[in-house]
Amino acid sequence: MNPVLLATLVSLLAGYGGLLPVGADGAEDSPVVQQANQWRAEHRIIDLHQHIGSTTQHLARAIKIMDAAGVGIGVNLTAGTVTPGKEGGPSEFEREKQLADTLYPGRFLHYVNLDYAGWDRADFSEQAVKQIEKGRRLGAAGFKEWKRLGLYLRDGAGKLIRVDDPKLDPVWKRCGELNLPVSIHIADPRAFWLPYDDRNERWKELKDHKSWWFGDTNKFPPRMELLESLDRVVARHPETTFVCVHFANNSEELEWVDAALSRNPNMMADLAARIPEIGRHDPAQVRRLFLKHQDRILFATDVQVFDRLVLGSSGNEPPATDADAEVFFAKEWRWLETTDRNWPHMTPIQGDWNISSIGLPASVLRKIYFDNARKLLARSLPRPSLRARRISQDFELDKHHDDSLWQTAAPVLIESDSRSGAAQPDLSTRVRALWSGHYLYLNYECPFTRLTFFDPPQSDRKRFDMEREGVSLWDRDVVEAFINADPQNIRHYSEFEVAPTNERLDLMVSLPGRDFDWSSQFQSLVKVDRGRKLWTCQMRIPLAVLDQKKPSVGTLWGLNLFRCDRANKASLAWNPTLTGTFHEPERFGVLEFAE
Ligand SMILES: [Zn+2]
Repeated sequence: MNPVLLATLVSLLAGYGGLLPVGADGAEDSPVVQQANQWRAEHRIIDLHQHIGSTTQHLARAIKIMDAAGVGIGVNLTAGTVTPGKEGGPSEFEREKQLADTLYPGRFLHYVNLDYAGWDRADFSEQAVKQIEKGRRLGAAGFKEWKRLGLYLRDGAGKLIRVDDPKLDPVWKRCGELNLPVSIHIADPRAFWLPYDDRNERWKELKDHKSWWFGDTNKFPPRMELLESLDRVVARHPETTFVCVHFANNSEELEWVDAALSRNPNMMADLAARIPEIGRHDPAQVRRLFLKHQDRILFATDVQVFDRLVLGSSGNEPPATDADAEVFFAKEWRWLETTDRNWPHMTPIQGDWNISSIGLPASVLRKIYFDNARKLLARSLPRPSLRARRISQDFELDKHHDDSLWQTAAPVLIESDSRSGAAQPDLSTRVRALWSGHYLYLNYECPFTRLTFFDPPQSDRKRFDMEREGVSLWDRDVVEAFINADPQNIRHYSEFEVAPTNERLDLMVSLPGRDFDWSSQFQSLVKVDRGRKLWTCQMRIPLAVLDQKKPSVGTLWGLNLFRCDRANKASLAWNPTLTGTFHEPERFGVLEFAE
């Protein structure tokens, strides 16, 4: 074979993984894999379970691994406690978050951890709640507790601290009130309670980590007792969301996980470091479980980036490399996306067996990869950004105008319920922006099932009535843009609405006031394609009415985008407001005037 061809083939095979084809046999990727590759290229995947060291080098390495795998956001579950540092300096949590936010804004979210130093004091519960509140104030996206409860942490008298100790109830309760999800690890694989010898199926792991072995009944409670104690906590706090990590801490027993998820609507399960175990089960049974609980399962790896890189688990072997990480992620995708049978899993130290893939449909994959996490973390996700592309020449909105110009601008999506953050992918609405010295142009592409509008339309006046329900333009189908040109005064912004009939409305908002007499003279063009079930709306908004100072390249304004679709009872937002109103300027995203 010619050496160039050979080299290409070798590099193709070696590079199998990451953004490259997922299929192992070189066959063409299935449509599902192609769709998932697209999500990876767009960095839409969220890894809900990572542990990242607190140095520049650790963060840089984590980003390199995430970029190669197509992971957009990593959730660092061990960002530390809020206990002040030496001489009252910033806490570990503050230092870690600050460094990550400075170096890689929008790429990491941080969970706060609890400091148990005051456990034996009478006011522990109160102090612990204060820690949680402080963590929330400092920007924690959630609260993580690990397996130390029930296995390692002991009180002053030497007794193990249990997860269902009533002293912790105020903590779980407060997390729910603050909308702070809890990720919780209890117990460990079943084999860690079985005899400590080379017949143990987890021997490779256990021989390098004696402290992971809990088979001594004088020292440790039985495994099921730990699982049951967590189950009591989850049941006692229905308003708190518990992400039970490592596939609900019981990947050996799918029926148990199924029953626990069915019993506790406030419980979710992450996949961290357990695909090797889940993958041993009958793939048809696993697939059924994933379909049944598709809203409650979250993609997560347990990747640990410290001086040693750990991909799910490790022992004393030579540490994993970045190339190993690519293979690891490729195997995660392969298990979820293909129907491959009987292949070697991604964390060999966890045991000598093969796994079989479960071939999930794209509609379920996107929930597990990012939709479920986006809803769970909605409050903490980075502000989205829309880059408006500069054009040198203005154009009239005209049915016959060539639409290809729009394609040069990167789109954003309006696809989340504004109140809950839940995704509605069927209605996913693409928005692109262009700008010139004179105008801001917006283009919405709206898939629909059935349009709801006022008939006949009134284009001679603005249709609204703040006193009466159901008679204003926004009570039927519309697309909307809220634009804040003055970051110093976010409560002051303009609002634009257009219906599929091209009825339109504009107003100036100065919360709580609304000025409907204000007129921007904006223009709009609507096209309804009933064959493709797509309506599009273009807006051309004069910049001079929005701000006296014209924007220039690099100018940042506030923006939120909405769509109402009555047939589907949908009130969708680009950045969900998480309340019953669209008028939440704190939740605006960013409009960037770019080249
Ligand atoms: Zn972990």
